This record gives sequence, C-alpha cells and structure tokens, in this order.
Amino acid sequence: MSAKQTMYYVGFCRVCKTGPLGLRRCGQCENVVLLCDECDATWSNADLAAPPQYAKDGELPCPKCKASLVESPSHWATAEQLQEIDWLQEAINGGLLELKQGIAFTPDAADESSPP
Ligand SMILES: [Zn+2]
Ligand SMILES: [Zn+2]
Repeated sequence: MSAKQTMYYVGFCRVCKTGPLGLRRCGQCENVVLLCDECDATWSNADLAAPPQYAKDGELPCPKCKASLVESPSHWATAEQLQEIDWLQEAINGGLLELKQGIAFTPDAADESSPP
C-alpha cells in the first residue's frame, strides 16, 4: 500500500474550515459519503446544511449498511466510481459542488507521520 492516496473532494468542511470533503466509498454496499479528511465529519449526500455525523472512537459506520467506512475495503472513490453517483453529479452540474483532486492527509494504513 502506498502512503499517499489520490482523493477526490468537493471543497472544504464547514465545521473545521480546513479539511477537504473527500468522497469515501463503502467497500460493502458501495454507498458514497462526503467525509472530512480533517475532523471526520460525514454527510451522506450533497446537503451540507444538514448536521454531519461523526466518527466515534475512530470508527465510522456506513449510513446504509453499517460497515466500516474507515477500514479496508472502504476507500476514497475513484473518478469512474464518482460518475455513478446521481446526487453528486446533480450537485456538480447544478454548481453546488466543485470536484477537485488532491492527496488524502490520512491514508488507509496506520502510517502516522512523526510529530515535529
Ligand atoms: Zn455501506
Ligand atoms: Zn472538518
């Protein structure tokens, strides 16, 4: 596993203001949510005005099937997978969200960088 992963995101988290909202795909049911890579706030669709869900004890259950969105095989969605998400495409086409490509701060592996 590589330490850095490509992540598609749609802007920045309104809660912490610094974290990119990545598109996280459930490895079990293939549901995709918006996940802040910084504070782990989660939205299940483009309605970012809704109150977010938060990871508890580092664990984040899929809103649909309750499988872990943190553990493998859940992963940051690829460009191809994003094409299949109706609510995302609608939000992008409607100018609500803007798709950008970046590098995830937190890769799947427990590969913590050492503190300064
Ligand atoms: Zn799921
Ligand atoms: Zn955040």
